[in-house]
Amino acid sequence: MNFEFTEEQLMLQKMVRDFAGNEVAKHAYKIDKEESFPYEAWKKAGELGLLGITAPEEYGGSGLGIIETCIVAEELAAVCTSTCATIMHQSGLVIDNFMRHATEEQKEKYLPRLCSGELIGCLAMTEPNAGSDVLSMQMRAEKTEDGYILNGTKTFITNGPVADFALVYAKTSPEKGAKGISVFFIEDGTPGFKKGKKFEKMGWRGSPTGELIFENCFIPKENLVGEEDKGINILMAGLDSERVVMGVQGVGIATGALNASLKYAQEREQFGKSISKFQMIQDKFATMYTKIEAGRALAYKGASLIENEKTEGIARLAAATKLFGADVAMEVTTEAVQIFGGYGYMKEFPVERYMRDAKLMQIGGGTSEIQKHIIAKALLSN
Ligand SMILES: Cc1cc2nc3c(=O)[nH]c(=O)nc-3n(C[C@H](O)[C@H](O)[C@H](O)COP(=O)(O)OP(=O)(O)OC[C@H]3O[C@@H](n4cnc5c(N)ncnc54)[C@H](O)[C@@H]3O)c2cc1C
Repeated sequence: MNFEFTEEQLMLQKMVRDFAGNEVAKHAYKIDKEESFPYEAWKKAGELGLLGITAPEEYGGSGLGIIETCIVAEELAAVCTSTCATIMHQSGLVIDNFMRHATEEQKEKYLPRLCSGELIGCLAMTEPNAGSDVLSMQMRAEKTEDGYILNGTKTFITNGPVADFALVYAKTSPEKGAKGISVFFIEDGTPGFKKGKKFEKMGWRGSPTGELIFENCFIPKENLVGEEDKGINILMAGLDSERVVMGVQGVGIATGALNASLKYAQEREQFGKSISKFQMIQDKFATMYTKIEAGRALAYKGASLIENEKTEGIARLAAATKLFGADVAMEVTTEAVQIFGGYGYMKEFPVERYMRDAKLMQIGGGTSEIQKHIIAKALLSN
């Protein structure tokens, strides 16, 4: 077992750490406060190849794998979860799902523009009445002679309010239940497709979240991704990778909070000495560090198994990675706020933002309860 990154991976880590420190950090407070999309960081991320990490180089991607995706996610989350979320949504969800199932023509037309950031993408599954039970979605895609007519509403869609390109899941054969779902892409401006409300959120505030509304929206049959009624295969194919990446994002948030707390505790004095000298504060640091290292080990084990196509037991391990990473993020950021005392509760320090951002890790991309359900089901089926 190898726990070390390669030379190339270390170079990538340094590059992303520099990008996060120099370009992302300075906007983190502002985009959170104003709920604005991180356009500057987005453009630069496109230039650095971070928007299409796993896309092949011939389509403008970086041609890398899941370990590299985890490295990028961890470094960005440690500085600004909102920027991390917008970038990882494009790279790890939209592009990754699209490229594995799109035709050559579809790839040539859209991948280079998605990888450069010219097109902002979103991926829409959730509906007002279909969240954890997403396969019960109501959205219809009715077949016509030369295409499909879409009707329905998607909600809680990351990047939705600013998206130029949406990957949308809808039922082509509702009578077949989960086996009657298909995936389509649709461009902003298509008649019958409009953006609904943009949500005001607790965290991830620089990563816009909104509704997408489809009313008798016609799309040509060329917009079908993969095969009709086989959308569930597309959904399932990337799921383990997505969970591992979400897990490492949680580890990244926790690391950012730990680093800020270590610095603060050494500067802050009470009772005539640095608060870092108090054993109860040191106890927190030791526990925070241990949880982070455990979460990181779990995430890179999962990433390494996926990279090497060792799929035995991967579903439960990936779910455990997401579950644990989310809890590490929540627990460590809560302790960070405690270490900052009253200042931790104020927006002039970053730890309250880390704590608000951490909460979403237990909800988005499948709640913690659903991850536990997946793990238990896998264990009991052995
Ligand atoms: C900021 C944000 C961004 C998002 N981005 C996207 C996106 O880009 N694309 C997209 O498609 N979706 C997105 N989502 C949706 C997200 O995946 C769902 O919110 C999530 O899957 C939970 O669904 P729900 O909110 O409907 O909660 P519900 O499913 O209604 O769950 C409510 C509660 O019941 C629990 N529960 C439900 N079922 C069970 C069960 N079987 N056993 C035990 N407990 C259960 C849940 O764990 C939760 O605690 C996003 C959500 C948020 C908040």
